Amino acid sequence: MRKLRVTKKSVRSQFVVVAAVTILALLGFIGCAEFHHPAAAQTQQKAQAKGMFKTAYPPVKSQKYAEMLAVLKKERVLEELADGLNQTIILPTNITLTFAECKEVNAFYDPQRQQISICYELLEHFEEAFKPDAKTEQELDDAIGGATVFVFFHELGHALTHVLDLPVTGKEEDAVDQLSTFILADGTDENERAILTAAQWFLLEDQQGDTDIKKLAFWDEHSLGTQRFYNMICWLYGHDSKTYAGLVKNGVLPKDRAVRCADEYAKLEKSWSRLLEPYLKQQ
Ligand SMILES: [Zn+2]
Repeated sequence: MRKLRVTKKSVRSQFVVVAAVTILALLGFIGCAEFHHPAAAQTQQKAQAKGMFKTAYPPVKSQKYAEMLAVLKKERVLEELADGLNQTIILPTNITLTFAECKEVNAFYDPQRQQISICYELLEHFEEAFKPDAKTEQELDDAIGGATVFVFFHELGHALTHVLDLPVTGKEEDAVDQLSTFILADGTDENERAILTAAQWFLLEDQQGDTDIKKLAFWDEHSLGTQRFYNMICWLYGHDSKTYAGLVKNGVLPKDRAVRCADEYAKLEKSWSRLLEPYLKQQ
């Protein structure tokens, strides 16, 4: 039986560690943002904590997913994520984090159940998608973990938008890509690579899809994969144009967009900081 890669190293070294680090970084950063916006901070009352991040492992039918479930449960991936989030965010109601067998390659937030589900099918899909380009096992592990953690924070964005009743103008899908980028763009190579990996995956998905432009899903609530790719690398470049100068130099990010990225990043940073500030625990 195939040994499932979405187990030990990728989960331990990326998913949990990244989450713990980034959640704390988020708190630290927004602490700074509060300093820069004292008027806003003083007038806002902290929300009441009536809920928590909880975890659940719904039963699975497939044997291979049962093995993944067992490892993820043993590694306490969700528990550590929930702990980190519970130390950071004030919730008015519970949000449940799960890995689930979904019968589709997906990850989603269910507003009725207030539940984030990362599908085992998605983890498997990441393995297949990144395998051809991975030079080492470690590289493949990192890619799977990085893409997964980006997706998790994207779904967390949907969950927070719902339970905190946050305003969103424009596409929510783009807004939560912004949140995930904002959380992960913390100056560490590991976390910022997660943004690049997820961006690469969006591009890859588009390249493997229909090449007839008329058949692209312009109607979809998500921006096209290639647009998400350019958004994410633009925001990352906007966050740190020195480290990511190569994106422009090598022609990956066109100059026409690159000149706006610092402003775009500053705006998304300010917006998410202000929105989340009333819901962050004092530490
Ligand atoms: Zn989404």
